[in-house]
Parts: sequence; C-alpha cells; structure tokens
Amino acid sequence: MYGTVAAISTPRGKGGVAMVRISGADAYGVLSRVFSPASPERFASKKPNAVYYGSFFDKDGVFDDGLAVLFNAPHSFTGEDVAELYCHGGVLVTQKLLTAVFAAGAEPAGPGEFTKRAFINGKISLTQAEAVGGIIDAESEKALSVSAKQSKGSLAKAIAEISDELRFLAASVYAYIDYPDEDMTDVTPEAMREKLVASAEKLKKLAASHAYGKAISSGIKTAIVGKPNVGKSSLLNLLCGEDRAIVTEIAGTTRDVITENVRLGDYILRVSDTAGIRESSDAIEKLGVIRSVKALDDAELVLAVFDCSSPLDKSDCEVIEAIRSAGKAGNTVCVLNKSDLSAPVIDPPFGKYVVISAAEGKGKEAIEKIVSDSVGAGNIGENDEIVINARQYSAIEKAVCAVGDAIKSLENFTQDVAGMDIERALSALCEADGRTVGEDIVAEIFSHFCVGK
Ligand code: GDP
Repeated sequence: MYGTVAAISTPRGKGGVAMVRISGADAYGVLSRVFSPASPERFASKKPNAVYYGSFFDKDGVFDDGLAVLFNAPHSFTGEDVAELYCHGGVLVTQKLLTAVFAAGAEPAGPGEFTKRAFINGKISLTQAEAVGGIIDAESEKALSVSAKQSKGSLAKAIAEISDELRFLAASVYAYIDYPDEDMTDVTPEAMREKLVASAEKLKKLAASHAYGKAISSGIKTAIVGKPNVGKSSLLNLLCGEDRAIVTEIAGTTRDVITENVRLGDYILRVSDTAGIRESSDAIEKLGVIRSVKALDDAELVLAVFDCSSPLDKSDCEVIEAIRSAGKAGNTVCVLNKSDLSAPVIDPPFGKYVVISAAEGKGKEAIEKIVSDSVGAGNIGENDEIVINARQYSAIEKAVCAVGDAIKSLENFTQDVAGMDIERALSALCEADGRTVGEDIVAEIFSHFCVGK
C-alpha cells in the first residue's frame, strides 16, 4: 500500500487553469480538507467521475475557487482513488493549493509517480508507460503519433501475441517431457520449427524497426567529415535551413565538442563536433582533418563530403582511410558537393552517395531520402509497430537470439532442448513488456518523467 501523494500536473507558469492531482487511499479525505463544495450534499455522495464546484482554502481561509473531479479505485489513471483539483492558473495560487494539499496530509509525488503507480497497479504496461514518456518528449510529428498509438498498448499487444505463440510451444514441450507416453503434444518438430521461424520473423521485424524509431525520436548520431573547404559547414547550413539547430553542450566532454540537432523531415540528425566543422573553415590545414574524424568513432551515420569538381587528393584519401579504420564504411554516405561547378569528376569512394550543391541549396531532399533508406523506412508499413525505446529494443534482440537458438537446437538436438531456448525468449519478451523488470529498472525509467506525470 502506497501513501497518498500530490503534485501539480500542469506546466509551471501562468495559464487559464492549473491542475493539482492527488492519488492514494486518502485522496477524498485530503480534498475535503482543502475544498469547500458549493453543494455539500452532492459532494458527500462521493460520486466518481463527476465535477464539483467549490472554493479552495488553507489555514488562512479561502484563496481561490475552482473545480474538483473524483475518480474511484480502480477506475482511475493510477488505479487508486484520485482527486483532480482545477484552480486558476497562476504560479502563486497553484503553489498555495499544493501547499494546502500537503498540509492536509498528502506527500509530494516523485518524478513520474502517477504513471509508475498506474504501472504497479496493472493499469498500464511498461511499454505503455514508456510511450507516455515518449508523447511528452516527442519532437517530431511521427514520434508523437507512434508514442500516442503505443500508449494505448499496441506494442504491448504485438509482443503479447508473439509470447502467446511461444508459450504454446513451450507448454507442448513440457507436456511431452512430463507425459512422454500420453501423446499430449501434437506439435511435431516440423510444425514447431515452422512456428519458431514465424515468430523469429515477427521479432526480427520489430527489432529492425528500431533504427527508424530511433531516427524519429532521439536521433541518429551523425558525423560530417571531409578535408577543409569541401563544404562541411555549408552542408550543415543546408540541412539546418530555417529551422536553426538546437545547440547542446555535452557535459563532461571536451569543451568544444558540440552536438546540433538537425531536423530532416521526420528524422533528427545529431551532428557531433559542429564546433570542429565551423572552425575548419578558417584555422585548419593542421587541425581540420584530424578534428573532424574525432567525431567518427561514435557515429551511426557518416556524411563524408568531397568536392566533386576536382580529383580526390591526399587529404581526401586520409579522410577515406580514417572512415575505413573506424569501421564505418557501411554507415557512410558520400556527399559529392559543388556540383554547380562541374559534373562529378570523381567516383564515390563508398557505395552510397548523393550529388549536391550546398551553395545553391540543392540536395537536402536527396539526403533525406538516403537517410530514410538507411533506416529502413521503406520496410515499415502504415500499421507496423515501431520500437522507439532502447530498453525494449535490447530485450527484443535477446528474444531474437533465443528463438534463433531454439531453431538450431531443434535441428541439432531434441524438442526439450529447444524448450529451454523458448523459455529464454519468453523471459526476454516479459522484460520487453516490463512484466519482469527489476524494481531498480522501473525506478530508473520513471525517474526520467517530470513531477506531476
Ligand atoms: P568546410 O571547410 O568544409 O566547412 O567548407 P565551407 O562550407 O566553409 O565551404 C568552403 C568554401 O566552399 C566556401 O567558400 C563555400 O562558399 C564554398 N562552397 C561550399 N559549398 C559549395 C558548393 O556547393 N558550390 C560552390 N561553388 N562552392 C561551395
């Protein structure tokens, strides 16, 4: 049993209305100690899902009027008794109401505490709770619509369907082990293999959607590299367009390593070491190449810029070599810039390439298209689930491996060995949906929410 907690659930600042939410067994009690209803008889009926008008008071008397709504356990967001108090949206009056609520017996709610209670009380799955966080954090329309859909449980449902299929197979294996003579299972090794392959395909598809999910939410770590004067800064400006980037300094790293979030259609590119890119226009020769390749190590996408109007020289080759030795050849897109000066006279040194003219503002769509291809957007259907969250992704990956092992075990050993692999896959899927995650992980997830959510 958890205590009764309260917090302001609307953003801090002036607005028409603000809301203080109270959740816990004593929600009605706390409310009645700060709220004087206009119709006491009606309020005494404690009718849930109804709106009550009245005034808010503290030890010094009435300070505002407003509305209160009651929800009874378990039919509330948290699954507990909940009272929502709507006062006028001033900073002082809202704070005064919260202080009165604390004085009346509620404890301050921690970050994400209401959503955490909803999870603990079985009102929502962890994937749904994480989707609520995703709605709050969403910076692109696409990320918002994916999170909104998943907050209704669509991803949890997709995971549950795969779990059900695997559980059926595990059960038939154990029925066979426990009662070998009873012919309890009619799942032949061939049928089992078929079902496992089908589950593996579904899981792989979910896992593969993460590249896209990440690109529309937290963003793709991107390095723009190239020798001095090829047009790296101009490319960055082309990508940023009017939507000038948000500049964030990464704490604890070198002072001048800066990441800029560049929005490219639905995608977010987190371009690192942009300070290096900017400086490279002036100072360089000695610094340029070395600095820009520093960003390579971490990059998920490398935009390697070349001046396509002149042949590759020694410095270009150094850049190419640096990309290869960082093991990033597969993640690299060659940006053949300055196409306004001449048709490309060079062959792109890596497979994927775009021809652009940053100076003429041409090529942004081509880059967006290549980013879209590289995150597999074309394979994602309108109704497919998209895994945005890294924690869910790593659990689904574990399940992919375990189902793969089960298929191998079935080929090389017997059904009961495969059964153990299926069990591992099931526990990974429980983890993905949060049914088996430890308390510390739950605490960590909700600590990223704001107070009041
Ligand atoms: P960086 O050193 O790689 O960051 O290169 P900059 O973006 O500073 O560009 C170097 C020079 O090339 C500048 O004078 C730019 O105006 C010029 N430049 C950049 N992109 C283009 C292009 O597409 N066409 C032409 N003709 N010049 C360009």
